[in-house]
Amino acid sequence: MIELLLLVVLGVGVAGYFLLTVPRWRLCYLSTPFFAFFKRVLPPLSPTEREAMEAGTVWWDGELFSGKPDWQALHRFPKPQLREDEAQFIAEVVDPLLARLNDFSIINQHRDLPPEVWRYLADHGFFALIIPKEYGGKGFSNFANSTIVSRIATRSLSAAVTVMVPNSLGPGELLLHYGTPQQKEYWLPRLARGEEFPCFALTGPEAGSDAGAIPDKGVLCKGMWQGEEVIGIRLSWNKRYITLAPRATVLGLAFKLYDPDHLMGDVTEYGITCALIPTTHPGVQVGHRHFPMGQVFMNGPTWGDNVFIPLEWIIGGWPYAGKGWRMLVECLSAGRGISLPALGAACGHISTRTTSAYAYVRRQFGLSIGRFEGVQEALARIAGLTYQLEATRRLTTTGLDLGERPGIVTAIAKYHMTEQARLILNDAMDIHAGRAVQLGPNNYLGYHYMGIPIAITVEGANILTRNLMIFGQGATRCHPYVYREMEAAACADAQEGLLRFDALLAQHIRFALGNVGKGLLSGLSLGKFESSPVSGPTACYYRQLTRMSRALALCTDVSMLLLGGELKRREMLSARLGDVLSHLYMASATLKYYEDEGRQSADLPYLHYALRRSLWLMGLALQGVFDNLPTVPGMLLKRIIFPFGIRYRPVRDSTVSAICRDIMQPSALRDRISALCFWQEQEQDPIGRVELAFRAMLAVQPLEKRLHDAQKQGSLPPKLPLAELIPLAQTAGLVSEAEATALREAERLRYAALQVDSFAPGELEQMGCDRARES
Ligand SMILES: Cc1cc2nc3c(=O)[nH]c(=O)nc-3n(C[C@H](O)[C@H](O)[C@H](O)COP(=O)(O)OP(=O)(O)OC[C@H]3O[C@@H](n4cnc5c(N)ncnc54)[C@H](O)[C@@H]3O)c2cc1C
Repeated sequence: MIELLLLVVLGVGVAGYFLLTVPRWRLCYLSTPFFAFFKRVLPPLSPTEREAMEAGTVWWDGELFSGKPDWQALHRFPKPQLREDEAQFIAEVVDPLLARLNDFSIINQHRDLPPEVWRYLADHGFFALIIPKEYGGKGFSNFANSTIVSRIATRSLSAAVTVMVPNSLGPGELLLHYGTPQQKEYWLPRLARGEEFPCFALTGPEAGSDAGAIPDKGVLCKGMWQGEEVIGIRLSWNKRYITLAPRATVLGLAFKLYDPDHLMGDVTEYGITCALIPTTHPGVQVGHRHFPMGQVFMNGPTWGDNVFIPLEWIIGGWPYAGKGWRMLVECLSAGRGISLPALGAACGHISTRTTSAYAYVRRQFGLSIGRFEGVQEALARIAGLTYQLEATRRLTTTGLDLGERPGIVTAIAKYHMTEQARLILNDAMDIHAGRAVQLGPNNYLGYHYMGIPIAITVEGANILTRNLMIFGQGATRCHPYVYREMEAAACADAQEGLLRFDALLAQHIRFALGNVGKGLLSGLSLGKFESSPVSGPTACYYRQLTRMSRALALCTDVSMLLLGGELKRREMLSARLGDVLSHLYMASATLKYYEDEGRQSADLPYLHYALRRSLWLMGLALQGVFDNLPTVPGMLLKRIIFPFGIRYRPVRDSTVSAICRDIMQPSALRDRISALCFWQEQEQDPIGRVELAFRAMLAVQPLEKRLHDAQKQGSLPPKLPLAELIPLAQTAGLVSEAEATALREAERLRYAALQVDSFAPGELEQMGCDRARES
């Protein structure tokens, strides 16, 4: 039956092909009726959705949607590298600060960054990482910005968020792109010197995810400003969750602008507009602090009622009145690829460094827990996903540093890097068990675990990001034809629109038919004849990714054809297509990372883990698409793309074991995928203590084996604690004095690394009292 249908489809395809080649027939019998159909089923776009879609650029995501990604182009993207001044800043300014940061006391004692830390951050330009040098800022790259935020986050999420916000979506970023020369000259040097401290307020009680629906209102009117009557804006707003608001000296505010009396022209509703308002301006109210998941970065509400501001406070001046949504979307799309993904990467790096060591140090049933397969499964997930996180962080910031503003890529990075961080932290917590549950200065994971819902929620809550942004906007924007067809359909001159549509439709149908034919051939040959830019162990992945790129293009075309505007509401379906695009992106980032690092064989288990998992998840997502399209097209698509069934399988147990064998040893790769984790090589440092124990235990492993063998042969008694065994082994001449000392030291460090905090009666309560006194 299916085979018959396939034949019919192929027959229709061939007939259609001939129809395409005669332009007059095509225009008459194909394009004209299709143009009318297309206009009818076109997803209804709100103005804010349209602006979101039009903002930013299409980059590597466009290639992934093309059905034939140009892998050489991927390889040609530069390898991200820190400049000398950036590396120096991290070594000489960031690390000394981190050595002094104590997240437990920040959270429990101060409930704030200590005043000297605030001063240090301001004095050393942490709030001006992205402000160009000409305005007194650091002028760092996006890669450096992400590296710095990640590194701080491994020590303190609260400190990282404090640094992150002024360097992502906020007045600084908006001023840089849209500010008038006067605004730039006035604000940027002040922000760079840390004299002014910014926040940006968009969200309110009624408008969270649907930020375009903010009720905050500015009405053009006449008022007194510096002793003169001028046209200005009377503003009322009510915002909440605003990071840094309780401390900010300058408030970036998004509101809707109206001109009911037509003081500035014929327009009555201008739309979303952004302004910069000093928080000392009469009428600006900043409320009490929120307390997000126990993290203590500043966050709070702000409101104002009928506050008069002059027009020149609009960011970009009057020409930018009503352009706020586009400004925000463009800046958000860049920031979204840096800040929260940096937090995600930080969680991966700290979890890899600590959990790989702890899984070796912690023993139960007489073995390192990392030897148990159950633990290995979780440990390999931490390391394998961290490899992919780091790869995705690098590729995304590379794009931004190339000047791209790829909204879909950054949404993918935001969603998947924070979701992978959530998986990683769950695993890291499970492996550490009680050691990570008990809070205190020695706990290096618990507050990250508590803080991850913040990264999931902000800058586009994750469910919305997956379901609406990645595919909803991606499909139309990155697809080689759909967006241009939509533009043709929206053309004011219907005849011109039809002619443009006709030319595009011809290309589009050829593209779709090509994908059917090549998709079937590729499916029948299991992708073996797809081209790969490399030979060797990664070639098969390039072939499979090309195959999946074509599958995505084909499924997208069919879904759009069948569902039209309805696809937007079928979020479960479209999100699965978005998952395919996302995994194509992250898988390609992983291959690029492997290439950039010189194709080291040590990377291969991690690369296999990430690629196999991505392909498996793409297969699952596509199965979900086939199952939820109408039955016949769903079955046909499956037969074309996977004629022998979906053969992608989960990660192999052997790969899991290979990763665990590798990651529980010091190595260049382990250092690389935990390089962002700040730790000190000393016992006082909680991570340092576990790491030192790990190294000392590895160093005495041959000695331990010698004792163990002696126990098995009966020359030493069995089941004795090491402390009692060592003197016996010495007496028996099995270990020298120096070896006995090394064994004792390793055992001491091991025990120290297992310890958790406990608090004397009243000690925790005292922290509350100290806080009350401080405030
Ligand atoms: C700690 C913190 C700091 C913040 N800092 C700032 C800041 O500095 N400035 C600022 O302006 N805002 C800030 N925010 C606001 C943040 O951006 C919003 O919380 C976020 O946009 C989500 O809004 P909401 O919490 O009201 O969730 P809601 O909008 O109520 O959403 C609830 C759930 O529904 C889902 N959802 C909603 N619509 C859809 C849809 N169409 N399809 C699928 N799922 C959907 C969401 O994904 C979410 O899971 C901050 C928030 C927090 C928690």
